[in-house]
Amino acid sequence: MTEVTDTQSTGAKHADPSRSSEQDLRALFGQSLAVFAAFEGPEHRIRSSNPAFSAVLGVPGAAVGSPLAESLPGSAGRELIAALDRVQRTGEPETGRDVRIVLGEGAHAREAYFDFGYEPRRDAGGAVTGVRLIGVETTQIKHAQRLTAEQRALLEQIARQAPLAEVLDGMARCIEDLAPQEVSVSVLLADPDGRHLRHGAAPSLPDFYNEAIDGIATGEGVGSCGTAAHRREPVIVTDIGTDPFWDDFRGLAERAGVAACWSTPILARDGSLLGTFAMYHRVPRTPQESDLALARLFADTASLAIERHHIEQAKAAAEAHAEAARVELAEAMRAEQKLRAEAEQRAAAAAELAARMRTAAAAQAATPHPERCQLGGADGCTAPAEIKVADSWGDAAWGCSAHVEEAIFNVRSAFIAGEEHGGLAAYLDR
Ligand SMILES: [Zn+2]
Repeated sequence: MTEVTDTQSTGAKHADPSRSSEQDLRALFGQSLAVFAAFEGPEHRIRSSNPAFSAVLGVPGAAVGSPLAESLPGSAGRELIAALDRVQRTGEPETGRDVRIVLGEGAHAREAYFDFGYEPRRDAGGAVTGVRLIGVETTQIKHAQRLTAEQRALLEQIARQAPLAEVLDGMARCIEDLAPQEVSVSVLLADPDGRHLRHGAAPSLPDFYNEAIDGIATGEGVGSCGTAAHRREPVIVTDIGTDPFWDDFRGLAERAGVAACWSTPILARDGSLLGTFAMYHRVPRTPQESDLALARLFADTASLAIERHHIEQAKAAAEAHAEAARVELAEAMRAEQKLRAEAEQRAAAAAELAARMRTAAAAQAATPHPERCQLGGADGCTAPAEIKVADSWGDAAWGCSAHVEEAIFNVRSAFIAGEEHGGLAAYLDR
């Protein structure tokens, strides 16, 4: 019973990991607005419209009654008006999917995508009097589709163990492409002790900047990234020019042309620091919720990539260690085998010698010989003389079996003298 309770309480402590990422995706997808308008006659005079139509397409609310071409000039109007013309003329409904429209002008221009439905309006006699337009902006859906495709590609790269630098570089470029504003991404990697940050990837920041940042300490007030790493929470600096965190790096940032830096720590599943993920902007900027969601999403992806890399590194180190141990063991085994073979050879040689000595002693027993061993050297040997040995110079002596064995092993030219031979004769016979 206690076990069940334990399991339940453990389960309750862990939040569903997919939940926060879903919330981030929802923030990124945003809410799509439906636009509606009804037009009248071949000039497509606006008869009625909803506020979203005015807000999204930038058509003033007071434009009711005026032709659409007047209130929506430029390329945005042309595409819509061409479709309205066709439906007005043919009376056939039309749909347009992911129609690209550039809204606004100059610095404020933005690219938007819509799904449009055009329905003819008819009078009692069936004649087409105008067109009804219903549209849904799909910009964020298209954006989200691209984002999820990129995310999937990165996860596949991680799964097939592409080099970390390659994955992080690809991730940085992907976000730079996806972000609606110009942004430069930087990934810094934490040292194992978490005290310093090393260059990971920053394909759009100048080299001098990356080199200067490489190795910065983690700590309160060390730019956006050092502080985010230290606090283990996002640090949003909207204006580098005035933020005290950037006191030591302001000149560097100015030379690199960056004015805002939002940094998110990259944390492992156990909460340890893996690095930081930063988005730099050329002008002071405050992030939207969708920007922060994008940062969290990619900090999570980076975490996967870095953790995977650490696991691979640990595995490679363990394999190298095991290989070294294997080589060492093989060498020890070879040495042991050599020693054993030598010992076996010596034992065989000793056994053979002992047999020859026994035979010689028996054969020489009747031969006159000194009583005591002559091979005891300065100390002398009191053992009885049993075997006659000789050397290649013809010298001969009688010794005990121990001294004869010693002489034969240590003096290369010593051998057991035959009963019938002197030393040299036996040598010549061999
Ligand atoms: Zn002796």
